[in-house]
Amino acid sequence: MNKQELELIRADFPILQEKIYNKDLIYFDNGATTQKPRAVVEKIEEGYYHLNANIHRGVHYLSQKATEAHEDARTTVAEFLHAANREEIIFTRGTTEAINLVASSFGEAFCKAGDEVVVSVMEHHSNIVPWQMLCERKGMKLRVIPMTENTELDLDAYRLLLNSRTRIVSITHVSNVLGTVNPVAEMIKIAHAQNIPVLIDGAQAVPHIPVNVVELDADFYVFSGHKIYGPTGIGVLYGKEKLLNQLPPYQGGGEMIATVTFEKTTYNELPFKFEAGTPDYIGSTALAEALRYVQNIGLENIASHEHELLEYGTQRLMEIEGMRIIGTAENKSAVISFLVGNIHPYDLGMLLDKLGIAVRTGHHCAQPLCDAMGIPGTVRASFALYNTKEEIDAFITALKRVVGMLQ
Ligand code: PMP
Repeated sequence: MNKQELELIRADFPILQEKIYNKDLIYFDNGATTQKPRAVVEKIEEGYYHLNANIHRGVHYLSQKATEAHEDARTTVAEFLHAANREEIIFTRGTTEAINLVASSFGEAFCKAGDEVVVSVMEHHSNIVPWQMLCERKGMKLRVIPMTENTELDLDAYRLLLNSRTRIVSITHVSNVLGTVNPVAEMIKIAHAQNIPVLIDGAQAVPHIPVNVVELDADFYVFSGHKIYGPTGIGVLYGKEKLLNQLPPYQGGGEMIATVTFEKTTYNELPFKFEAGTPDYIGSTALAEALRYVQNIGLENIASHEHELLEYGTQRLMEIEGMRIIGTAENKSAVISFLVGNIHPYDLGMLLDKLGIAVRTGHHCAQPLCDAMGIPGTVRASFALYNTKEEIDAFITALKRVVGMLQ
């Protein structure tokens, strides 16, 4: 991406012009949520101003138009993930709800006391707690894939964890703390050799890496709209049709039924079986717009730009005395977690904020990972397609100043 292209992209994101404490905003908290391009916000406005009516049940014009937009969005998501068919795309509130859905429905259909669920040490809480709740409910065991010194999952240990009691493997594609890109295709293959299905948490992957769920052979793949330049409150569960058809509904209500009597209810077909109640049809259309935005720029272009930022940022951070980068995997996404000497990450984050720089501090909803590494948390700078090397330069200057004040 050249300077001119980058300028044009930045102009699509009005918030990047904001002043924070009278300073230029430098937004390096993209792992938590990304900023929104004008096209996405305009899609939301257009939806509420011109297309708003409840979907699926209406015979009138607006309802039909809104239904069309929502179902077109499903097709856009299916194409984005290269799903075999659009009925395999379920809209949820986000990654968290998608994982809860699978843990609940898959757990109901396939799990019993004594069974095991395998997750990894680098999971976000939302890919730990739903499985823990299932384990408590059913008397099952949670098994954890450890990692090697260079913060990559230990595949030998992973192979040893799988056995005839393992019902499902649920792992992240990209770690939100370490940036590690896990070899999920290989890990799925290993699990499938023992007929074990795999859920991939793609929350930190889809904004940065082209994903093909069929090539990966993922059984479930989940992500959140707000981390890929889309709105909050909308996300996606992809599931293989055959598996989804075997799962009971997650929630009951309107939309997910075929017929209802007080004696018995029969359920709707995919995808509606898993979409009880009025869906976020404005959110889904805005998410589709975000995916089109990303595709127009090209995920390969985005990945290569972000990789440059990762390399440059890492190299510049190393100028700082006492710098410790947390996350040293060979294959890394544009996330840099770090600690400096004995300075608490919270103090660094607070002072950087006063200079207009937004980074995240703390355990990043991955407390078990921080515990395993013996650290209180990290400062995390996570980059997106609109970030620049100049912003990294300004960040390094600010960080040097802040470190000087705290040492
Ligand atoms: N998994 C990972 C790897 C994440 O980074 C996050 C968000 N930080 C989530 C899951 C949860 O996403 P959400 O809060 O959008 O449901």
